[in-house]
Amino acid sequence: MSKVKVFLEEKDIPRAWYNIQADMPNLPKPAMHPATKKPVVPEDLVPIFPRGLIDQEMTRDRWVEIPDEVREIYKLWRPSPLIRARRLEQALDTPAKIYFKHEGVSPAGSHKLNTAVPQVYYNKVAGTKRLTTETGAGQWGIALSQACSFFDLACIVYMVKISYQQKPYRRTMMEVFGARMYASPSENTNTGRQILQENPDNMGSLGMAISEAVEDAVGRDDTHYALGSVLNHVLLHQTIIGLEAKKQLELVDEYPDLVIACCGGGSNFGGIAFPFAYDKIKEGAPVRLIAVEPSACPTLTRGHHGYDYGDVAGYTPLLWMYSLGKDFMPPGIHAGGLRYHGASPLVSQLIKDGIAEAQSYGQSAVFDSGVLFARCEGIIPAPESSHAIHSAVVEALAAREAGEAKTILFNLSGHGLLDLPSYESYLHKGLVDSPISEEGLKKAMANLPQI
Ligand SMILES: *Cc1c(COP(=O)(O)O)cnc(C)c1O
Repeated sequence: MSKVKVFLEEKDIPRAWYNIQADMPNLPKPAMHPATKKPVVPEDLVPIFPRGLIDQEMTRDRWVEIPDEVREIYKLWRPSPLIRARRLEQALDTPAKIYFKHEGVSPAGSHKLNTAVPQVYYNKVAGTKRLTTETGAGQWGIALSQACSFFDLACIVYMVKISYQQKPYRRTMMEVFGARMYASPSENTNTGRQILQENPDNMGSLGMAISEAVEDAVGRDDTHYALGSVLNHVLLHQTIIGLEAKKQLELVDEYPDLVIACCGGGSNFGGIAFPFAYDKIKEGAPVRLIAVEPSACPTLTRGHHGYDYGDVAGYTPLLWMYSLGKDFMPPGIHAGGLRYHGASPLVSQLIKDGIAEAQSYGQSAVFDSGVLFARCEGIIPAPESSHAIHSAVVEALAAREAGEAKTILFNLSGHGLLDLPSYESYLHKGLVDSPISEEGLKKAMANLPQI
């Protein structure tokens, strides 16, 4: 009988994260300081990040050791299981084998705890007392507030006001772990007060919340800021997913033909794909690496590769990445974690160089596959993760057409138990694919910085 779940022992948790910067044929161009337009140097980052993370952002070392304190906390949910989706295979009547890495087993419910724990750890070591961050839908805020409670740091979360009001359960989860919550725009920062003066009813955006969290951190010596995706050190931490998956597939004598993950800022895609990208770059392994995004926010499939700001206000460094322009407003979709105008510079470069590829799908097809997966496997996936599921379904059906027994690996980045209102919309209210504003996109792309 074939195996359904492949487990590793706690002692098999990797001892080092994998840094793809050591092996990429072309590195992204350096991040640029927003004021001087010169490459960012480590000192520029000292007001917001601890030394340990700044070093990891810049290092070209292939392996970065995972501190024992972090591995001990990883044991709360790692190694995460690798599961063969046999019932989904049967439903699709495909000769393809479909495996998924289940990151929804983390106590935060998503992969984001993989980086929240080391980020808080390096801050603790540096003497930081408070951490600020922003959160949209809430997944990152939950992960950071949990990690802060593990290491006894104060956590201040600026949550986009509309989500603060519409997603009370996520907010309560953060409060259970001791986070201090502000609905952004808030009265707590100059940025927030200014926005509220202009319009007291402003419902906020991720860009505004970032500006508030950064302002709070820069203004105090005891405080740093933490980001949940996009940056090199975040993707580094997430490679634990792919490193474990590789060992697990070896245990069942498999190697994937396709590795698939959804892509918002790029961290869970980079996390599962980079260890396989190593094989592809170094040994020519014929593995396809597929980043899946919503057609409502098609950063990798329709964006421009060049410099752009990470936030709306233009406070962050300019990053060399695919972008739709920082002013692009995607239509409201249920996969809130995939509504970012840019993407990780490392992921962007791999796509530019043809080592990875991108696909985009509309949300109704994505929910069809998410619900099919739930009915077969019993797990309700996060709407973000359902993008990866949908791509796996499309590829498994293509394998059936071609009569090829492909091996597919995808990342289940999180469960959807806090996304039930989205499923309710899908099941009862007729969920539609809102098209993007072509004019808005044109405008936002015309506004890309010229450097
Ligand atoms: C945040 C989030 C994402 C998107 O972020 P990436 O950095 O692209 O991984 C995807 N899935 C879930 C469940 C998330 O919480």
